[in-house]
Amino acid sequence: MSLSRYVAAVTAAFAFSHAAFAADAKIPVVAAENFYGDVVQQLGGDRVDVTSILSNPDQDPHLFEASPKTARALQHASLVVYNGADYDPWMAKLLAASKGAKHTTIVAAELTGKKSGDNPHLWYDPATMPKVARAVNEVLVAADPAHKSAYDANLVKFLDSLKPVQAKAAELHDRYAGTPVTATEPVFGYMSDAIGLSMRNMRFQMAAMNDTEASASDIAAFERDLREKRVRVLIYNSQATEALTKRMLKLAQQSNVPTVSVTETEPAGNTYQTWMLSQLDALGAALAKGDASSTKAAAGVKGKTQ
Ligand SMILES: [Zn+2]
Repeated sequence: MSLSRYVAAVTAAFAFSHAAFAADAKIPVVAAENFYGDVVQQLGGDRVDVTSILSNPDQDPHLFEASPKTARALQHASLVVYNGADYDPWMAKLLAASKGAKHTTIVAAELTGKKSGDNPHLWYDPATMPKVARAVNEVLVAADPAHKSAYDANLVKFLDSLKPVQAKAAELHDRYAGTPVTATEPVFGYMSDAIGLSMRNMRFQMAAMNDTEASASDIAAFERDLREKRVRVLIYNSQATEALTKRMLKLAQQSNVPTVSVTETEPAGNTYQTWMLSQLDALGAALAKGDASSTKAAAGVKGKTQ
C-alpha cells in the first residue's frame, strides 16, 4: 500500500474512534520494539502513553514469545506500531485474536515494501524511521487534531535530529565503501549496505538469525575470513550469542580482526538517534583500526604521493 493510501485508511479508522479521547486523555500506544516506542514518544510528547514490549537488549528478540501480559497491554492501545517481516509474528497473531478492540496499526515493513523472507532489521535502514515517523504523525494528528501544530513541530525536530546519523553514514561511505566486513547476524545489514561495505558470509548470518545450523563449509569460510584477515571488521550481535557466534568472536580477537558489538534492541538511556550514532562511531573506530593493521603497505604508498 502507498503511504498516502495507508494514511487515508488510518485516518478513516481514527475518524470513527477519536471522539473517545477526552481533551486531557493521553493516546495509549503499544510498540512491539522499544525503538519504535521511543520514536512515538518523541513525536507525541506528553500526549501519548507508550508501552514497549521488547526492551531488553540482553535477550534474543527472535526467540520472544508473547505472554498474557503482552495481550493485556494491547487491549487498551489505540495505536499499535510493530516491525513486521516476520520479526514479531506474535504481534500479528495477538492483533488477529483481539478483533473486538479498535487498533490503528503501523507496520514498518508495509511502509518500506518489505516482506517475509527479507532482512527484518528494518530500523537499521536510514530510510525506515522517517517513513515510520511520518505515519505516526498522521495518526496522532487524526486522533488529536487540537494538537496538530505540536505534533508537526515534533516531526520536524525528529527528522532534523536524524541528520547527524545520515551524515556519519555518508562519511563512512566516502571512506570505506567496498571494504570487506563480516557479521554474526544480519542485524546491521541495511546500515552496512548504506555505507557500501562489502558484507561476507550471508548464509552463516541467516542461519544464526533463524536459529538453524550453519553448514560446515559456511563455518569454514567464516573462520578463514577471520584467520586470514580477509575482512576488516567483525560486527557482532550481542543479542544472538550461540556457542558458534561466540567462537567467531573469540577467533576474531585472536586474529586481531577489530570487532564491533551491536544490539537489536535500544539500550536503556539511549534515544534511537544516540543509539545509531554511537554504533556508527564504534564502527568507524573499528574500521580505522582494521585500516591501520592490514594496509600498512598501502599507507606507505600514499605517504610518498603527498
Ligand atoms: Zn536479529
